[in-house]
Amino acid sequence: MQHFNIAIDGPAGAGKSTIAKAVAARLGFIYVDTGAMYRAMALYFLRNGIDPSDEAAIEAACGQVDITIHYQDGAQQVILNGENVSGLIRTEEVGNMASATSVYLPVRRKLVELQQQLAKTADVIMDGRDIGTCVLPHAQAKIYLTASTAVRAGRRFKELQAKGQECDLEAIEKDIKERDYRDMHREHSPLMQAEDAVYLDTSEMNIDQVLDRIIGIAGERGLN
Ligand code: C5P
Repeated sequence: MQHFNIAIDGPAGAGKSTIAKAVAARLGFIYVDTGAMYRAMALYFLRNGIDPSDEAAIEAACGQVDITIHYQDGAQQVILNGENVSGLIRTEEVGNMASATSVYLPVRRKLVELQQQLAKTADVIMDGRDIGTCVLPHAQAKIYLTASTAVRAGRRFKELQAKGQECDLEAIEKDIKERDYRDMHREHSPLMQAEDAVYLDTSEMNIDQVLDRIIGIAGERGLN
């Protein structure tokens, strides 16, 4: 049976995961958060003191990392070598390490394979940086979700504050800019809008408006 795939790509802090979760709940799809997989890998590299600029060490470490995904009450859980690390990967430190190490082909190959397997098993909405261009090139609906840097930094600031994490708006904005630059300019699978993706700037939109628009796009692309 052919499953319906929705691909959402965009820069850091664009609201991809919030929106994708809400769309998944509305449509009864599985939400696949691919950033969480890169973050779990990054956590392994951080814990083992691996230098993100040491490509050989990263490649060697990839052979020692096993990442799997399972769902608990509909929420994605990321398992790193048997340990559920879902609660440990949402820090800026892990996010920056994920961005620095996702440039390497061995890291990407391992995770893209897992992502493609997941999309074969169910109707999924998957978010990341290369979903429409590389992981699911045949996804029926593709969205490039973005917002201004200031709006994205403000959203991330509020999110971290709500979790009680100490944060600084200027530092977050600087990190976001650096991360976007790296994600957009890397050699392998850089972040870019797929030719057949709909560009959606959410700077002036609320969650419900974005949600309705994406569900509308899925309908236009054949979801009934
Ligand atoms: O989306 P999130 O902030 O969790 O992603 C962390 C990092 O993982 C990104 O900055 C990006 O470098 C990398 N990533 C990627 N490809 C994906 C998803 C995330 O390279 N499909």
